[in-house]
Amino acid sequence: MKFNNNYDVVVIGGGPAGSMAAKYAALKGVNTLLLEQKKVIGLPIRCGEFFPTARELEKIFTRSQLVQELYNIPDELIAQKIDLVRVFSPKGTSFDVPLKGHSVYREKFEQYLLEQAEKAGATIRMNRPVEKIQNGQVYTSDDVFLPKVIILACGPSRTLLNPLGINIQKDLAVCVQYVMKNLSLEPEVVEMHYGNVSPGGYAWVIPKGKDSANVGLGIRKNFYNENILSLLDQFLKTLHLRGITAKSEKCSTIAGLVPVNGPLANTVIDNILLVGDAAGHVMATNGGGIPVVMTCGRIAGETSADFIKHGRPLFEYEKQWRKECGREFANALRTRKRADFLVYKWGWAAEILMRLLGTKVISRALKCSFVGF
Ligand SMILES: Cc1cc2nc3c(=O)[nH]c(=O)nc-3n(C[C@H](O)[C@H](O)[C@H](O)COP(=O)(O)OP(=O)(O)OC[C@H]3O[C@@H](n4cnc5c(N)ncnc54)[C@H](O)[C@@H]3O)c2cc1C
Repeated sequence: MKFNNNYDVVVIGGGPAGSMAAKYAALKGVNTLLLEQKKVIGLPIRCGEFFPTARELEKIFTRSQLVQELYNIPDELIAQKIDLVRVFSPKGTSFDVPLKGHSVYREKFEQYLLEQAEKAGATIRMNRPVEKIQNGQVYTSDDVFLPKVIILACGPSRTLLNPLGINIQKDLAVCVQYVMKNLSLEPEVVEMHYGNVSPGGYAWVIPKGKDSANVGLGIRKNFYNENILSLLDQFLKTLHLRGITAKSEKCSTIAGLVPVNGPLANTVIDNILLVGDAAGHVMATNGGGIPVVMTCGRIAGETSADFIKHGRPLFEYEKQWRKECGREFANALRTRKRADFLVYKWGWAAEILMRLLGTKVISRALKCSFVGF
C-alpha cells in the first residue's frame, strides 16, 4: 500500500458529475485525479439518454450558470432532436408540451465529458475502484490518496455512501428499459405515460432516430413490488395497439436506479463534497439528472479549487448549488409528492385534475416551475 499526496483533489466516479467536477477543478489550476471503477466509461448504458437543450434549460434554471458542454454538444453525440414531450394521463388523454431537447449516445457523451476533464489537466485513472474513504483519505487496492478535498460522484451505489452515514437509497425509482428498433414513431416526440402503467413513476418512449427508441419505465417499491419487466411488457402491448411496435425488435434490456427523494440535507462532510446522484441531485418528478449533475459538478470542482488556493470555505459549494438549482429541486419534489397521492393513490382524481388543469399547468410541472395548488 503506497501513500500518495500528489493530488489536491480526488474525484471518485467518472460519470457526468465527476467529469465536470474534475474538469472545473483542473481548469482552476489544482492537481486533480479522477478514479473510475469501470474499464470503459459509459458502459453499460443505464439511461433514457434524453435532456433539454441548453436554451430550454436556461428557461427552467433561471439562476444557474450551465456548463459549456451543454451548449456545444458535438453533432455526432446527438442521436435525435426532440421538439415536444407528449404527456399521457392515466386514462390515455394526451397533452403536448413543446420542449426542445435531444437524445444522445450516452456512452459517447460520457467519453466526451471525460476527455474534456483530461484536456483541462485532470489525471484520469480507469479500472480503479475506490474501496473506502477513511479519515479524509481515499483507499484503492494499491494506493492511499491524501487529498485536500474529495469529490464523491459515485452515483447511487451504497459502498462508499453508507459508511459515511448517507442513505441515498431511501426512495429509489427502479427502472427498466428496452432499446428497440423498427418502430413506427414520431421521432421528434418523447412520450411520458402516467398511472397504473408505471406505479410511482412513469413510462417513456424516447426516440433515438427515425425508427428506434428507448422504451422503459420507472416504478417505486412502495407503489409496486412485483415483476417490473412484466409491467414493461404490458406497456409494450399498449404501444402495439397504437401500431408503434408492429414490426419492432428488442436490441437490449437495461436496468438502473434513480434516487428521487430530492437532494441530501448536507452535501459537505468534512473534506468530502457529494455531487450528482450521490447527493440526490436529480429532478424528483422525472428522474432527469444529466444537466443538473453536470452543473453541480462544476460548482464542486470550482469550490474545491477556491478552497485550496484562496481558503474559500467548502460549505460555499452547498450554498452555491442551492442558489443555482435548489428552488427547482424543491419544486420537483413537492410536485412529485402531490402526484404520489393523486396519480397513484387516486387515479381518477388525477385524470380529472389533469384534464382541468390542461397543458399549461402540466408543462409547468414538467419544467419544475409548478409550486402547487
Ligand atoms: C434507467 C435510467 C434512465 C435515466 N434516464 C435519464 C434521462 O433520460 N435523462 C437524464 O437527464 N437522466 C436520466 N437518468 C439519470 C442520470 O443517468 C443520472 O442522474 C446521472 O447519470 C448521474 O450522474 P452521476 O455522475 O452523478 O452518476 P453516474 O452516472 O452513476 O456515475 C457514477 C460513476 O461512479 C463510478 N463509481 C461508482 N462507485 C465507484 C467506486 N467505488 N470507485 C470508483 N468509481 C465508482 C461508476 O462506475 C460511474 O461511472 C436515468 C437514470 C437511469 C438509471
